[in-house]
Amino acid sequence: MARQFFVGGNFKMNGDIKKIKEIVQHLNEAKLDDNVEVVISPPTLYLLLAREHLRSGLEVAAQNVFDKPDGAFTGEISVKQLQDSGITWTILGHSERRVILQEQDIFVASKTKAALDGGLGVILCCGESLEEREQNKTIEVVTRQLKAVADKISDWSKVVIAYEPIWAIGTGKVATTEQAQEVHAAIREWLKKEVSSEAAEKTRILYGGSVTEKNSGELAKQPDIDGFLVGGASLKPAFVEIINSKS
Ligand code: PGA
Repeated sequence: MARQFFVGGNFKMNGDIKKIKEIVQHLNEAKLDDNVEVVISPPTLYLLLAREHLRSGLEVAAQNVFDKPDGAFTGEISVKQLQDSGITWTILGHSERRVILQEQDIFVASKTKAALDGGLGVILCCGESLEEREQNKTIEVVTRQLKAVADKISDWSKVVIAYEPIWAIGTGKVATTEQAQEVHAAIREWLKKEVSSEAAEKTRILYGGSVTEKNSGELAKQPDIDGFLVGGASLKPAFVEIINSKS
């Protein structure tokens, strides 16, 4: 069975009430390809606002979640709190959190397990730095990040992997279709060997890093690219064109 195309919009720490409402309204009114799963991820403060206004069928993701159920964890939010608010997905392991907030593979894996156990879908990010790519360590880094998760979970059916080379994020330097396809195929191969043929066949692998309406069509044609995680361009009206890049 073909994998359903998936497009996520990662707003990062951008937007305000007015802007989030505008983006949501634009999506609500747009003609979106019915075959595409669409998830938007505003900052935590606006998750409920987005959920309240976004039409049904489109989902909302947090940009992070904690791995403990409740308690004295100042500044964190729990899986249960997201569920309670109608938030069905979370992004985890984004490179901005891995690098700036120094999140380790094991912590990302623990949060992935907690999110899945609590019934959320997880957009699990992985990707190498420019230095690692230049040292030919891309596959090694990405599979190390994924292995930490594979050590903790066995069911990958609610995991969507986002391959996001750090050097391509927010830089305007998109990976070439060949570079992206090569890593996606390697991730699928790794899933087959380390998890199962079923996980390899069914897990969506998204590309992220300077995706725009100009490059999304070509990328979407690659056999192992099952969608996108879009940062900057998800704040713009052209996000709709990216969602529709298969149609
Ligand atoms: P970008 O960000 O599209 O702005 O490069 C992608 C991401 O970080 O998810």
